[in-house]
Amino acid sequence: MVNINSVVIATGTHGNEFTGIYLGKKFEKFPNIIQRSSFETRVFLSNPKAFAAARRYIDKDLNRCFAKADLQNPQLASYEDILAKNIYYLLKEESKNQQQVLIDLHSSTANMQLTIILKSQHPFLLQLAAELSAINPDVRICYSQPIKESNYLCSISELGFTIEVGPVAQAVLNAELFQKTEALIYQVLDYIESYNQGVSKEQNRTLTFYQYTEVIDYPRNEDGEIQAMIHPQLQFRDYEPLNPGEPIFLTFDGNAIAYQGTSTVYPIFINEAAYYEKGIAMCLTQKKTLEI
Ligand SMILES: [Zn+2]
Repeated sequence: MVNINSVVIATGTHGNEFTGIYLGKKFEKFPNIIQRSSFETRVFLSNPKAFAAARRYIDKDLNRCFAKADLQNPQLASYEDILAKNIYYLLKEESKNQQQVLIDLHSSTANMQLTIILKSQHPFLLQLAAELSAINPDVRICYSQPIKESNYLCSISELGFTIEVGPVAQAVLNAELFQKTEALIYQVLDYIESYNQGVSKEQNRTLTFYQYTEVIDYPRNEDGEIQAMIHPQLQFRDYEPLNPGEPIFLTFDGNAIAYQGTSTVYPIFINEAAYYEKGIAMCLTQKKTLEI
């Protein structure tokens, strides 16, 4: 594969995810720290208006606005729809004759640690994931195979991926997580530098990753109102095995509700604040390995 020419770090795709936003501001202030000799790196703030309001979005979730059909649909004219179209055409134009890596930086209220979410199994992305897993014990790799066409910002680039760091509350900075995220970005940039220089170790490795299988909503009544909370035994247990019969919810009366599945799964995004409105209490994954 040809060399990587540029890296774009998108921050604030959700305006209340401060870790990435303030890290991006630091990078803009000290651009030398993200420059490497073999490629250009730049940062952009995806949703400035949502950041100014310290909200996830103004009209709708920007990170669900990038399906091709939606980008081409002139009827879709909300603030985020127009923003998505502008970002898409800007990055497409910019990356015309370039091999561009697009990193979309998010944070989560769930205990996601340093999660890399891949939307494809492109060999470059798998090698990067294996390298990061090998050198950073907080890194977890998720693979979300798009059922239909992806509508995420990172899908603009063939070499796009999402980083989710947590747990951190919305519109809050956590210094430890900020520094861990910063170190992870440098590890990504350093890997790309060594890749371009042909010195990245093309060794055979086993990559452990977590593949999305389904989402689970909260128990709700006929009016759609939530009837139970995440069970305290499951809170912050992202990436830990959950077996059939183990409790996942606790009703307001104090009754445990068990996981009804038939096999062991690995829940992630447990009790993610932003997912209450999406009807998602957690995402279930299967733990898998891949020889690369
Ligand atoms: Zn986000």
